[in-house]
Amino acid sequence: MYKVEWDKKSGGVLLVTSSENEIIPPRPVFYEELDLLGFNKYWDYPQSQEPLLWNIGRRYFYKGELVAEVRGGNIYEEPKIKLTENGKNLKLEPINLELLIENNKEALKTIENEAIDFINEVYNKYKDKVDYFIVSYSGGKDSQVVLDLVSRTIPPDEFMVIFTDTTMEIPPTYEIFEKTKEYYSKIYPTLKFFIVRNEQHSYDLWKIFGPPSRIIRWCCSVYKTSPQVRFLRRLNPEKQNLKILVFDGVRAEESTRRSGYSRVAEEVKHLTQINAEVIRDWNLTETFIYIYSRSLPLNKGYRYGLNRVGCSICPFGSSWSEYIIRSIFPDIANVYIDIIGNHLTSLGLHDEEERKKYIISGNWKKRAGGDGVENNIRVEFIKENKNFKIIMFNPRENILEWLKVFKIINIRKNQNTYIGELKFNDFITDIKLYLSDNYTEIIVENDDVNIINTIKKIAYKTAYCIHCGACEAECKTGALKVLPNVKINTNLCKNCLNCVNFVSNGCLLAKSLDSSERSSNKMGEAQGFGRYLTFGMRSEWLKSFFANPEEWFTRNTLGNRQYPAMINWLIDSELLIHQRKEKIISPLTNILKKHSIFISTLSWQIIWINLFYNSPVVRWYLNKIPWYTSHTSKSLTKLVMKDFEISFKTAYGGIISLLNTFESSPLGNTLKIGYIEKNGRLRIVKKMGTDDIHPIAILYSLYRYAIFKKRYKFTVSELYKDTNKDGSPYLLFGISREALENNLRWLNNKYRDLIHVDIIADLDNISLSEEIKDYVALLNDIMGREN
Ligand code: SF4
Ligand code: SF4
Repeated sequence: MYKVEWDKKSGGVLLVTSSENEIIPPRPVFYEELDLLGFNKYWDYPQSQEPLLWNIGRRYFYKGELVAEVRGGNIYEEPKIKLTENGKNLKLEPINLELLIENNKEALKTIENEAIDFINEVYNKYKDKVDYFIVSYSGGKDSQVVLDLVSRTIPPDEFMVIFTDTTMEIPPTYEIFEKTKEYYSKIYPTLKFFIVRNEQHSYDLWKIFGPPSRIIRWCCSVYKTSPQVRFLRRLNPEKQNLKILVFDGVRAEESTRRSGYSRVAEEVKHLTQINAEVIRDWNLTETFIYIYSRSLPLNKGYRYGLNRVGCSICPFGSSWSEYIIRSIFPDIANVYIDIIGNHLTSLGLHDEEERKKYIISGNWKKRAGGDGVENNIRVEFIKENKNFKIIMFNPRENILEWLKVFKIINIRKNQNTYIGELKFNDFITDIKLYLSDNYTEIIVENDDVNIINTIKKIAYKTAYCIHCGACEAECKTGALKVLPNVKINTNLCKNCLNCVNFVSNGCLLAKSLDSSERSSNKMGEAQGFGRYLTFGMRSEWLKSFFANPEEWFTRNTLGNRQYPAMINWLIDSELLIHQRKEKIISPLTNILKKHSIFISTLSWQIIWINLFYNSPVVRWYLNKIPWYTSHTSKSLTKLVMKDFEISFKTAYGGIISLLNTFESSPLGNTLKIGYIEKNGRLRIVKKMGTDDIHPIAILYSLYRYAIFKKRYKFTVSELYKDTNKDGSPYLLFGISREALENNLRWLNNKYRDLIHVDIIADLDNISLSEEIKDYVALLNDIMGREN
């Protein structure tokens, strides 16, 4: 909310409304972090409770001066310390917290009052509409601040505090929960605290589901949402359509997509939930200053240098946090590392060093399918004339129970066979079932796609269910219970199919094990190749979208096939977000509009960068077609079909949509990414590239590359390697090395806090700020500085 600058008097920082010396909000650093990293070899400092200095990214500042930097480091290796001239032989004194608080008193009062007004407003608006107000406590600093603000605003018996224990927490998180409970119970004896957790420990479920990944993030549903919703249902079993209002500690600075959302979000995270983001606009430093000003308990994880406190090993964790957690809590981290290692062994990686390298590079976080996860379940689908047969080997549940989500009319048993009818969308369908110990067969006498897809999902649920609870949390009426076995109360079931349709395979575990989604699969890479049909993203369509994004959906003049194609272009460009069947204008759209750059080639450059990461046809073109080559649509289509097992129609459609984009936007003959020449009806596309790329687009693409690679240091040479298929201004725009280096020098002078380059003699190093995790917020920041 406020800008931050150094305050040499207190050794701390000042929150100010405007500043010429603004810095990225830093976090405080304690002696425990310095000891861990080995600073005690160089510096003299007390083991004080107060912080000693500040950190931004990997850089350490004492009284406003850069004194050290740490480089490298990962789950197995410690980072290296590099002291600056100012950092030699330092004797550190603790930050004067009293003065820090005093100097920021007024600013703090403003943000506190704003947050308290917001809580009050939300409370008054929803008090007659929701069943429970909750503070969702994680043990992190943000939820600590939210809990304190809510406790100062709402009567203590009007809300409860729920700590969702993922069973993957670090020990200080359990300690801080107990401390916090004790602290508030003294002040508000009627305030209720609960711990909720899934019935099954993460040690067990990691082996059954496979390690969670950025693509298959099953753990949040299983360990966070589901236990919380099911716990609240148990508190009030008679209540249908339970509504909960959660005060949470999400901050826009930390979340890629939240900044453009409404501060109160209904049914975005879960059907039962309204989320109110109390400190959405606070920065990192403000949360720490608040904690000090109120003398609140602070999770010890921060004292060791963690930027965020959460699960010990998480697919979204940084190599920095992995280093800290494995150093401080080796026993806990090693359990998860062993599970990942065993998974890699079953994938064929038998060499220990290779497995280590794989873990260090974070490749396990990209798992997109169930290869390497052992189970003896098999589900097969067979089309027989007009009938559809599903066979399940070793199913864990009884299909008859799951079929109750349909309005079944009449099922008759004859030894091991059942014959009956079920009702779906007012149609009655005949089914036959054969059930024995380790085998279930269903024959559906219908070839309607909707009914077949629904029964497929039910088959997956029946075959795979290990009672993780995720789908139970989706049932609004409380009809579904999955423990100890699946039971559906037909008196309560409304046949809404929420429990079936909440995830693509009907079951979270089946989805996690679905090998058809694995990343190495060629079909996976080609999936969506033809999603724009043959339509390109045209300049005039984009202009009309930007002119009035909110109304564009109803007012555009696109045809029936053009409209969905354009929607897909907008989603892949990250101008639209598609979530729970809703289309939401993205923060990026608002930023491009706010800074009036939406009609410039800069916005097309940003869009092109995003398309590289989201659009299969764009990614294929950039990765496979060399610069300075010419092609026709037919020759490109042939190349696509060599790479992917897809139909001519899909391949050709994808290529035509790309060529149409080049022809009707600056990406073609201005930026020359696909320069179009016409020879009669024949179009020839030349992949030429240009040096004329906006430095902001270069910086944006470097950050996207860094965030994608989870590595903020690289060399210019790396960006020009043929093997680099992960991004870079050269891969995306064909910019020459000389032009790129000139731009990098310019950026280095202009945005010293964001990029540092050493391009002299043999050096060609680029270092970006590891603080930046959100490339959209970065763009907003730079555009703000430019204007
Ligand atoms: S059906 Fe799947 S999602 Fe539902 S409880 Fe069972 S394992 Fe979990
Ligand atoms: S989610 Fe819907 S279909 Fe599933 S058990 Fe509950 S009420 Fe029935």
